[in-house]
Amino acid sequence: MNELLDKRYVEYRNKVRAFAETIVKPIAVEQDENEEFPIDLALKMGNEGLFGITLPKEYGGQGLDYVSYIIAVEELARVDSSPAATIAAHNSLGINPIYTFGTEEQRKKYLPGLCTGEKLWAFGLTEDNAGSDAKGVETVANLEDNHWIINGSKMFITNSCSSIATGITVQAITGHTDGRKELSAILLDRSTEGYETEPVKGKLMWRAVDNGRLTFTNCRVPDSNILGKRGEGMKIMLSTLDGGRLSIAAIGLGLAQGAFEMALDYSQKRKQFGKQLSDFQSVSFKLAEMAMKIELARNTLYHTCRLKEAGLPFSKQAAISKLYCSDIAREIAGESLQIHGGFGFLKSNHIERFYRDQRLLSIGEGTSEILKMVISRHVL
Ligand SMILES: Cc1cc2nc3c(=O)[nH]c(=O)nc-3n(C[C@H](O)[C@H](O)[C@H](O)COP(=O)(O)OP(=O)(O)OC[C@H]3O[C@@H](n4cnc5c(N)ncnc54)[C@H](O)[C@@H]3O)c2cc1C
Repeated sequence: MNELLDKRYVEYRNKVRAFAETIVKPIAVEQDENEEFPIDLALKMGNEGLFGITLPKEYGGQGLDYVSYIIAVEELARVDSSPAATIAAHNSLGINPIYTFGTEEQRKKYLPGLCTGEKLWAFGLTEDNAGSDAKGVETVANLEDNHWIINGSKMFITNSCSSIATGITVQAITGHTDGRKELSAILLDRSTEGYETEPVKGKLMWRAVDNGRLTFTNCRVPDSNILGKRGEGMKIMLSTLDGGRLSIAAIGLGLAQGAFEMALDYSQKRKQFGKQLSDFQSVSFKLAEMAMKIELARNTLYHTCRLKEAGLPFSKQAAISKLYCSDIAREIAGESLQIHGGFGFLKSNHIERFYRDQRLLSIGEGTSEILKMVISRHVL
């Protein structure tokens, strides 16, 4: 199947692109400048069906496939990475583990509300001393009287602090086996006593994304809030990150596409030495390389989505897709800014924001170095 030709996908892409162009793009510069998470936009994205894209309709989702989801994230990132990141984190890290590992009761309790744009759910792995080394988690959950008592903190958590952030799937130590940590995933509602949030401000990129530091002090939740089985935390995390990496790859692809289109447009308008920039071979070759890289990235990413849809292993391909898409996003944003010359540095020019936003892609949900470790483990 060719997702670029199939009518279903073409129509869906056009629909999300129209939304992105008319609703997202006009406010992108201002949101970035103000470093504010736009609640109104979240609601509009909810009405557009962008929360719960792949979730079955019985839980309030759209019932679409993974390629559609990736296309939606790509199209948002083509104009602005911040809302694309909000959607990617909510769908892949918030909703997906609850649907995949949750009991029927947990699914019914949480999922419908999380598809409306009125509520967000986060995924909490990272801590001050646990980033790439996920096993370094120090947050502890002790079982007392059929309740988990959670103490610890999480850092950088996406969709965790705004007024519509309603809770988190928290990765915590629930015991030890043979001296090794037993990690479990626990659903923790924000309304729980002892749950504190503090927005992370002053970011270089994704400035309109809600990121926060969370602190849990004796947070008490029923034993039934465990997601999956006790001790399955690592399995849930690895599975969640594999899917999540595809959506980060989609942000890279969409950002690269947007940066390329800006370079194409500018190079045909700007004249120097009596010619438009695109008439200079060094500029036209840059555009050719951008087009080539975008095509290869898109084919790789969609191929990985097809593996996931078919229920085949896709962990290596997810790492390759994220690594490649974030690499080309960095290269293409850099070359597009180069083509824009001095005007590219101005905040009023979208390429300036794209140049900053791409930087997160090689760090979040597995740094490029960690992804190379994942890929090398598969190939060796
Ligand atoms: C905007 C933003 C949003 C985020 N959202 C979330 C979220 O929703 N939930 C969540 O849990 N986390 C989230 N994170 C955290 C993110 O996943 C981590 O930042 C990332 O995993 C890297 O961890 P770290 O920052 O601690 O870097 P570190 O792990 O300290 O790495 C620092 C550097 O050392 C390198 N390095 C580390 N170990 C090795 C090794 N073994 N070999 C070679 N090099 C190595 C890394 O590649 C990197 O270059 C977010 C982060 C940001 C910035």
